[in-house]
Amino acid sequence: MNKFVYMFNEADKSMKNLLGGKGANLAEMLKLGLPIPQGFTVSTDACTKYYDDGEKFTEDVLAQIEDAITQLEVLEGKKFGDNSKPLLVSVRSGARVSMPGMMDTVLNLGLNDVVVEGFGKATNNMRFAYDSYRRFIQMFADVVKGLPKQQFERVLDEIKESKGYDNDLDMSADDLKEVVEAFKALYVKHEGSSFPQKAREQLLAAVEAVFGSWNNERAVIYRRMNDIPGRWGTAVNVQAMVYGNMGDTSGTGVAFTRNPSTGEPGIYGEYLINAQGEDVVAGIRTPLPIAHLEQDMPEAYSEFMRIANVLEDHYKDMQDMEFTIEDKKLYFLQTRNGKRTAQAALRIATDLVAEGKITKEKALMMVEPKQLDQLLHPMFDSKALSEAPVSGKGLPASPGAAAGQVYFTASTAVEAKKRGERVVLVRLETSPEDIEGMDAAQGILTARGGMTSHAAVVARGMGTCCVCGCNDIKIAADEKSFTIAGKTIKEGEFISLDGTAGNIYLEDVKTVDASISGEFELFMSWADEVRTLKVRTNADSPKDVINAISFGAEGVGLCRTEHMFFEETRISKMRQMIVAKTVEERVEALEALVPYQKADFKGMYEALEERPMTVRLLDPPLHEFLPHSKADIKALAIEMGITYEELQGTVDSLHEFNPMLGHRGCRLAVTYPEIARMQARSIIEAAIEVKKEKGFNIIPEIMIPLAGEVKELKYVKDIVIETVDAIIAASGIEINYSVGTMIEIPRAALTADLIAAEAEFFSFGTNDLTQMTFGFSRDDAGSFLDDYYAKGILESDPFAKLDQTGVGQLVQMACEKGRAARPGIKLGICGEHGGDPSSIDFCHRIGLNYVSCSPFRVPIARLAAAQSAIKNK
Ligand code: ADP
Ligand code: MG
Ligand code: MG
Repeated sequence: MNKFVYMFNEADKSMKNLLGGKGANLAEMLKLGLPIPQGFTVSTDACTKYYDDGEKFTEDVLAQIEDAITQLEVLEGKKFGDNSKPLLVSVRSGARVSMPGMMDTVLNLGLNDVVVEGFGKATNNMRFAYDSYRRFIQMFADVVKGLPKQQFERVLDEIKESKGYDNDLDMSADDLKEVVEAFKALYVKHEGSSFPQKAREQLLAAVEAVFGSWNNERAVIYRRMNDIPGRWGTAVNVQAMVYGNMGDTSGTGVAFTRNPSTGEPGIYGEYLINAQGEDVVAGIRTPLPIAHLEQDMPEAYSEFMRIANVLEDHYKDMQDMEFTIEDKKLYFLQTRNGKRTAQAALRIATDLVAEGKITKEKALMMVEPKQLDQLLHPMFDSKALSEAPVSGKGLPASPGAAAGQVYFTASTAVEAKKRGERVVLVRLETSPEDIEGMDAAQGILTARGGMTSHAAVVARGMGTCCVCGCNDIKIAADEKSFTIAGKTIKEGEFISLDGTAGNIYLEDVKTVDASISGEFELFMSWADEVRTLKVRTNADSPKDVINAISFGAEGVGLCRTEHMFFEETRISKMRQMIVAKTVEERVEALEALVPYQKADFKGMYEALEERPMTVRLLDPPLHEFLPHSKADIKALAIEMGITYEELQGTVDSLHEFNPMLGHRGCRLAVTYPEIARMQARSIIEAAIEVKKEKGFNIIPEIMIPLAGEVKELKYVKDIVIETVDAIIAASGIEINYSVGTMIEIPRAALTADLIAAEAEFFSFGTNDLTQMTFGFSRDDAGSFLDDYYAKGILESDPFAKLDQTGVGQLVQMACEKGRAARPGIKLGICGEHGGDPSSIDFCHRIGLNYVSCSPFRVPIARLAAAQSAIKNK
């Protein structure tokens, strides 16, 4: 028979996957000889089985729970449902990793109308017995049955008010009896049945509710955001109660072994006398700092300090602990590695190394790579933020804090910035035309679009805070205001965005600049010592490059040349090129673009010094460079000196039903080789000039996008090489360039051996590769992926986290075929996945040479690469 239930004394911390973090650590503490109330854990396997069996407990699980209760009764010398010495328990959820959204704890389970009396007599404390019972009914109703908590709160408040009390502690046993009666009546009113009196029935309902909470909406969303698989399930801990609400020699508290927001050493915590469970964090009464316990209960205090140190030394990490004192006797109820800010994480990790408690490698494993992001962007002042009400929510697309005045178009945003205003750009969705407005903004808010929408990708690239896909906002047709939560916000009014949480505030919340302390640098240098994967950046401007290098980038993995054409002065040349009737006209327009393009490349080469740079030839469909509204087309026609009809004709002729699969990427160069020629020339001339002027040995990697057939690759490559070699020969200067391709079409991956015969490097464009492998349009998938998450079909966004089972297989296969055909071929990834830790781990394992990500993700990628190297040693 499979074992589904474990007594605390049969387990230890190594069983975290099976027993959840809370259960495994309770068992471990017991094993260390610490004062822990006994109990048992119903395993995560039982949870998975519960779901597999159609949300039912099977006989064997029920029998094992029953058996565990009997064992617990013996250990405690009390009986479940007994009238004089009742065993009361807490029922606590606990997954492998602590997870908000999981069911809250139920305390004092086992009480009923009869037992409470006996319990009061046995403890000689009727007030305490009824206080425990009213808490139990309240928690059971809220947590297990989902009844409206506020109504119970209100009943309690009303009774207190009617007696003229301020404090829960003023209530007598009789008052609390009255509360119990009122609670039971409220329970009947909602449930239609009376409050369950049988302890076993109460217990099973609570265990089942914990399992049920594994799949509630909050939990599912949290799992998706944190890469937690649905198959893990949660465990349930059933533990004998200890009572912090027994009187003035009892109490309960929470504490950390170091400060969780700064990382400073020293115990940090709070407690309350005569209280139970979450009273401390619920803010019902103001708790006292832990140091004060030394005066209140010196013995319990010194015992507490001793155990806290034992725990930190044992786990070799900062601990977050819960304890209860029952009539001067101290019990520990939980310990876990404490959650902490990024700043604290670095301080603690480096301090523990300095204290000789852990190795550098262990320190590197202790910090969550994604957390580093917090250190790189401006942040809200935490006090100001906690006081500001949240008025709406969208997707947390690009982290950071933004506060500023609202503008609805790129041009008004740019003007406002010029006036010195802080700007928040609010748009239905963004497009490449909005780049300048986005660049001018502190933050970007869109009503539509997912985590890989244009707004999200570009904002992350810029390191600009972005909240996207916010369905709560309605933008007025005249683009002068929007409504949210029944309020109207006009152009020029202040809002604030929290890109890390996706929250929207309707006021100017104070921000503070990010400060990077010395520990950060030290820590990152350790990461660089162990990682083998190189980290490059995706960058389109010298500013991005400089930024990324300061974050540790080792080159540019993707320079997207199209963004260079959107600036005011250039876009008109680009448009002339597009509407050109003859090759000559087109070449002439392209010629005019050369100086701009060259200057951009020079700036980037100079910033890179001798680091490599992969430049991608023009990729998007040409229609993206043309206006679409009638008025804009008219205006442009006048500017270009052609008729409206003529320009409208061009716009119409460029219309495609499916532009993502249309005339773009290397297909453009097949039709218009002169575009590739112009770009190749700019890339190489810039390299030659920088080499002449600065002496830097520039290493350009020219990348041909969207190839699916080796012959189209070869066609474009030949044009590039012919152009480049002629320029190099004429200059007499040696440039060590290479030509490669982006693998982003499944057919390219499938024929990677043939492709490798022509390509000197591969860069995996996993955004398009994901789009084409799944057949999910990147721009439209946001509208239905939520249903996929809700229905458990997908657990995470394949555009954010590489789908290793499908898309990843294509990547791996392409690597193998590529290496077989061209030993030593350089392999990298430049899709959004290049900055995602779990995807980076995959890249490490299949042996890529580098990942490339947006500048602000470079430190994340460096740490993730280091962690993969350590894990896969
Ligand atoms: P969470 O995961 O939300 O912290 P817990 O299960 O740890 O939930 O507990 C909620 C509160 O109840 C904590 O303050 C904890 O110390 C307290 N608690 C849990 N079990 C017991 C118990 N057996 N005796 C006394 N207090 C308990
Ligand atoms: Mg809780
Ligand atoms: Mg807890």
